[in-house]
Parts: sequence; structure tokens; C-alpha cells
Amino acid sequence: MPHKIVLIGRPNVGKSTLFNTLIGERKALVERTPGVTRDRLYGEAEIEGRKVTVIDTGGLTPEVEELFSHEILRQAEEALAEADLVLFLVDARTGLTPLDERIAELLRKKEKPVLLVINKVDSKKEVLNLGEFYALGFEPLLPISAKHKKGLENLRKEILAHLPEETEEEAEKSLAPIRVVILGRPNVGKSSLLNRLVGYERMIVSDIPGTTRDSIDTLLELPDGRQYLLIDTAGIRRRPRIKARTEKFSVDKAFEALDRAEVAILVLTAEEGITDQDQKILSQIEKRHKACIILVNKWDLLDGKREEGNILMEQIKYGARFVPWAPILTISAKTGRRIKEVLPLVDEVYAAYSRRVPTAQVNRALEEIKRERALYTPSGNRLKFYYATQAEIRPPTVVVFTNYPEEIPKSVERFIKNRLRNYLGFEKSPLKVVFRPRR
Ligand code: GDP
Ligand code: GDP
Repeated sequence: MPHKIVLIGRPNVGKSTLFNTLIGERKALVERTPGVTRDRLYGEAEIEGRKVTVIDTGGLTPEVEELFSHEILRQAEEALAEADLVLFLVDARTGLTPLDERIAELLRKKEKPVLLVINKVDSKKEVLNLGEFYALGFEPLLPISAKHKKGLENLRKEILAHLPEETEEEAEKSLAPIRVVILGRPNVGKSSLLNRLVGYERMIVSDIPGTTRDSIDTLLELPDGRQYLLIDTAGIRRRPRIKARTEKFSVDKAFEALDRAEVAILVLTAEEGITDQDQKILSQIEKRHKACIILVNKWDLLDGKREEGNILMEQIKYGARFVPWAPILTISAKTGRRIKEVLPLVDEVYAAYSRRVPTAQVNRALEEIKRERALYTPSGNRLKFYYATQAEIRPPTVVVFTNYPEEIPKSVERFIKNRLRNYLGFEKSPLKVVFRPRR
């Protein structure tokens, strides 16, 4: 989870101007959390290569400032709870105000690091007024002009110096959210599932434009900071309103979304099991080496019909045999059955998808495979496999050096892939195998 920097200050000091400057071109997300007075703006920023989340607490207009100063303090207090670093903004042009002093008092009571940022120092003229801000009790004073982008380099430097150390684990976690796409034929329950998923969890949404004009992604953040970007949810989220029964499942659009995802969730139903259409989707998932989960929805329809359930499960496993690494989970978006297991399963397949195996282990597996049987090209040349290494994660990709890389038959490729998957423990992840000439 990136560390969080919260902008605090009375209205009109320039919080949103600074917010926009820090996040640059990136999109801001609006959080709507029940119990929080106002929408908070969340933005991702990169400060000297380090990812941070910047939070703007929003504000009221100056006219109501006096009336609502307690409200402003309350918002500041709420936002403070999750701050790793506070940027306390004041305005050099208006000078020190009583509300600034009250905010300072609040901040002194908390044990969060605070940087006192004096905004609107556009020129030397304002520099002369800085002295009075020492009264707030925070040093050093950091003069900036958010509007004219002055003093920002120094501010960034100070931010970096005052953020808590980033552990390796945090560095790993601060990577982008897991990109998930929910696929399936119309009426299998995709929107019901999505509503369940976002319904359970605190949601930082929302409408992040995707690649095409009408595609929208949804960002889901759990209270512990794990994030999922649900790709191309436009159709899914809109559906309850448009709900056209005639709507055609757009294969092209689904595959475009699949390209952007890391984990594909294919939704089937207990009514129809696995259909040709589903198999086509799965083969695309396989071809693109995406991590995958198969959800069999509407399992409530099979309550008390155990035998039927077993038969259906066998049918699905058989139909999905070419993606043996995709776990199958039976759920009911209607009753909530096992919905809580969905995101943990996403984490699990993603972890497998992100796994790196040491080269020595890859080569031991290769030796085992060579011992199992001799392999040939279609023209009868004996294939030799010299050496292998895992070159990539997501998807895990093993490069195998061989004498005839261009002539490896599909069957041999499949054999090696499956064996490597087993030997290297990629039970829940696809494995990509690339053949290269010996060097
Ligand atoms: P917020 O209410 O704290 O979010 O403040 P805003 O970011 O909306 O800024 C309030 C006003 O101050 C706007 O008219 C900004 O254009 C202006 N402003 C922001 N930063 C600066 C600055 O560095 N210099 C000057 N002169 N004006 C600024
Ligand atoms: P989508 O087209 O894939 O987004 O499917 P919807 O979520 O709109 O669901 C299609 C229909 O299936 C709706 O009438 C839902 O109420 C129903 N449905 C969804 N999930 C379940 C479930 O778990 N059990 C049952 N019995 N019906 C469900």
C-alpha cells in the first residue's frame, strides 16, 4: 500500500491546486464512504520514483468558513486517521488566521509528521510575510506557489525525507492493483456478482475511463489496502438500468478487456454448465496466458441436489480441461454463498502468477523431463534441451534453449509446458514456455 499524504488546511489555501499539481495527469478517485462527511479525493502521485497516495480533504467555501470551522476541523481529524504524512497548508497572502491556529493545535496533538507548507508565495513580496507562521510551531517553513509551480522540488524532497521507510513488502504492494476482468455470457450473473463484491467492501471508486470510449474500470479497495481494478465494468454496472435481453455478448470487447487484465474470472451457471461460448473464452484466456478463476454461479439452484451438482462439476472440469490451472468455485450471487472466497482466490492465483522460481530448480525440472522420454521434431530430428530459466513473471515465462526451436511440435510444447508446470509448482497459474536456439 503506498503511503498516504493528506492535505489539510482551511478553505482556499490552495489544497486542490497542490493536489492537482502533485498527481499530474493521473486520475483522481472519489471515495464515498458512509460516515465520512464529504467526498475525499484520492490521487496517485510519484515522488522521485516512489508511489504515494495524495488525499485532498475537500473543503467548504470561505463564506461558510466561520460558521463551519468545527466541521472543517472534524474533516481534518477524519482524514488524519489514515495519514502517514500531513501537508498543512496555509496562505501567505492572507497571512495567519485563527482557524490556522486551531488546525495547528489539532495537529500538534496527533503524532503524525507534519510539513508546514506556505502556499501562494508567488514572489519575493510574500516571502517577507513568512515570519508570522513560526507561531504555528512547525519547522521548517516550506514556501511554495502551487499555482506557479515554485518551491515544489524542495517540497518533494522534504516529503520523501519525512515519509516512513518503505519496506520491501510495501514496495511490492505499492505496485498497481490486480487487474481483474469478469467475463461470461449475458445473464450468468456478472452484475449480481460485481454488486456483491463491491457491496461487501469499502469501495474507492469509480469511473476510470478505460481504453475505449465507452469502457469504464472500477477500482475496489479493501480496508487492508489490497486493490483490485475491475476492468471494463461499464456494461456490467450499467446493465440493471438498460437490461436489454437482446443484448449481444460482444466477443471483441470482452477480449479487448481480457488483454488488459491479469486475472480473468469466467462466470458460468449451475443451469447451463460450460457451453461452447465459454470454451471459446477459456481458449482465449489460455492463449493469452492469463491467470484464471472459474465461478459457477447460481449454485443455489442445486441446493439439495448433490448428485446433480457432482455431475455438473465433472462436466465443467472436462470442458475446462485445457486450463487445468484455473480453480473452480461454486457460488451464488443471490444468496452470497462463498462470495467472500472470491477475492482471496484472486490473490492466490495472482501470487502464483507472480511467482519466480530459481534457475537451478528450473533446470532440475528440465533434467527430469528429458529423462522421461526422448522427443523429436516432425522430420525426425532428436530434440535436445540444454538449459532453461524463468525469464518473466505475470505470466511466468520459462525460456528453454534447444537445438531446433522452430520445429517443436505443438504436442511436445504442450508436454513440456504441463510437466514444467507440475514440477515447478504452478498449479494455479498458466506457464508460458518459449523455445530459443542454443547460445
Ligand atoms: P482549496 O480550497 O484549499 O482546495 O484551494 P484551491 O486550490 O481551490 O485554491 C483557492 C484559490 O487560490 C484558487 O483561486 C487558486 O487559483 C488560488 N491559488 C492556489 N495556489 C496559488 C498560488 O500558489 N498562488 C496564488 N496566487 N494563488 C493560488
Ligand atoms: P449478467 O447479465 O451476467 O450481468 O447477469 P445478472 O447479474 O443481470 O443476472 C441475470 C439474472 O440471474 C438475474 O435475474 C439475477 O437475479 C439472476 N441471478 C444472478 N445470480 C444468481 C444466483 O446466484 N442464483 C440465482 N438463482 N439467480 C441469480
